[in-house]
Amino acid sequence: MRETHAVHDPPDIAVEPEANITHELHTPMNAILGMTELALHEELPNVVRDYLLTAKDSADTMLSLINDILDFSRLEAGRFELDQVPFNIRRLLDETMRSLSLRAHEKGLELASTVHANVPLALLGDPIRLRQMLTNLVSNAIKFTESGEVVVTVVPARSDEAGQTEWNVGDHVPLHFCVTDTGIGIDPNDQQRIFAPFAQVDTSMTRSSAGTGLGLSICSELARLMNGRIRVESSLGKGSRFHLTADFAVAAATDERLRPVTVKPEQLQGMRVLIVDNRCRNPVC
Ligand code: ADP
Repeated sequence: MRETHAVHDPPDIAVEPEANITHELHTPMNAILGMTELALHEELPNVVRDYLLTAKDSADTMLSLINDILDFSRLEAGRFELDQVPFNIRRLLDETMRSLSLRAHEKGLELASTVHANVPLALLGDPIRLRQMLTNLVSNAIKFTESGEVVVTVVPARSDEAGQTEWNVGDHVPLHFCVTDTGIGIDPNDQQRIFAPFAQVDTSMTRSSAGTGLGLSICSELARLMNGRIRVESSLGKGSRFHLTADFAVAAATDERLRPVTVKPEQLQGMRVLIVDNRCRNPVC
């Protein structure tokens, strides 16, 4: 009689340790951050408060460094999966800009964003990773700009779609995001290099500001996973414009959060409207 052997799948040795490492790194960091925050709520002598604030800043930086390295290693190993969930692009952009507005305000910068009227608002894709890319681009723009503005625009990526206003659920929507600043700009010789891991342009500005040099390489990989890409146009001393393209699909606007938050232009037809704004520009970048 022939002997039969049970065939078992090998254990998933690649994924298990990774989840453990993530847990092992996050647990102490969260404890350090949580305890420091609790201590900061106590009555403290000023000098101790200063020490704790410095410790908290460093712990925040360390946590984002850990997250960048974990993301980067998963992307490099080809073990990164994107979500496919419905989200409202205008809300996502508003929330992202709001979370960065304090830093822009502290530097006296104007921060503005526009979603072109022809972009369908309810989309299917990975909102967390899209937000991560936009946060990276906008916070770089704020970091490297001392005066002027940082503007984000979202338009349909293909010009033939710019005029399309009716969308059906499931339609494919490639989008083009532009993040424009009036900052220090990037030397043409460095414009490719900054997308490589750990690349930072060696200026006194960069050395004095926190950063890992991983942000843009993570963004490039995420854009590639979304069938898009990222590139930059810039001139030294005048500012930079980062272009990000990524593919989404139209989602069904089934719940309130996915519906438009603003009135449609047709709803304003025939009405008298007063618009007060110190800047007015075509949102097509
Ligand atoms: P990090 O910001 O963490 O250093 P990034 O990968 O996001 O890493 O950026 C890499 C480098 O590209 C930055 O250190 C900086 O030298 C340059 N850079 C990125 N965005 C801008 C910008 N908007 N203006 C000028 N330089 C920039």
